[in-house]
Amino acid sequence: MISKTTIQRINEEARIEDVVGEFVKLKKRGANLLGLCPFHNEKTPSFNVNPARNIYKCFGCGKAGGPIQFLIDYQQLTYPDALRYLAKKINIEVEEEAVSDEAKLKEIEKYNLVESIQIANAAAQKFYTNHMLQNENGRIGLAYFKERGFLNHTIEKFQLGFAPDGFDSFTKHALKEGFQLEVLKKAGLTSSKENSTADFFRNRVMFPIHNMTGKVVGFGGRIMEQGEPKYLNSPETPVFQKGLELYGLFEARQAIRETGYALVTEGYMDVVALAQMGFPQDVATLGTACTPTHVQKLLRQTD
Ligand code: ZN
Repeated sequence: MISKTTIQRINEEARIEDVVGEFVKLKKRGANLLGLCPFHNEKTPSFNVNPARNIYKCFGCGKAGGPIQFLIDYQQLTYPDALRYLAKKINIEVEEEAVSDEAKLKEIEKYNLVESIQIANAAAQKFYTNHMLQNENGRIGLAYFKERGFLNHTIEKFQLGFAPDGFDSFTKHALKEGFQLEVLKKAGLTSSKENSTADFFRNRVMFPIHNMTGKVVGFGGRIMEQGEPKYLNSPETPVFQKGLELYGLFEARQAIRETGYALVTEGYMDVVALAQMGFPQDVATLGTACTPTHVQKLLRQTD
């Protein structure tokens, strides 16, 4: 449980304009800031951010609240996750109060599917990256990226990795770590046919896809040898829909806002290569047509 003192500090120090400003492009309007509402569809901005009162309010749809509420509404974070996110943002330590084992267990049980999937995705990203950098067999993946001129800091920034050719290397590893098979399947990391389970991604270099809070929601994998499909995306899951996500937007958001424009490219390799060449404001659709949601997401960052 997060201590009352921590919650109090967060409430005092988290700035609404910084929290909202990370996701919505805001323009100064008098003492307030104005932007396009992220909660309803609009062409004329009616989403108001009031730094003095530390709140936001939309005059179109009525959504309103403070920094914590914004994260709960917009990022669908739980209350404790919103607190942790803000603590990190304002750079304060989260004090946890001791709770009974029983209470802890209950909290774990409350973890819903979405959270379990996100934890599994994060574990998969670490597995793919570690495998590429530390395992002999992972060198094929590293060599592929190096051949394309990717530098270490680029590989690190985009958290690139390699999914081994073993039939179920990741699944075995994850089960050993205590993940439930059901969660791995729902996360699209493990596929199953009849009685056997296998890794969904095999022998592919891996590009994790982040949402706007930096959580891994899915992956794209490029096959190493000849084979189809050349690029494979995670299946649709409760946290991942191809038509909603733009690859690289999390990494590019700052640069898009600073330069005032975004570059939309065809795929993963383009995004990573351009960022390394000094154009970090680039994103890509995930092998789908550009959807209205894609455009809306970009319009929140730049006009
Ligand atoms: Zn609204």
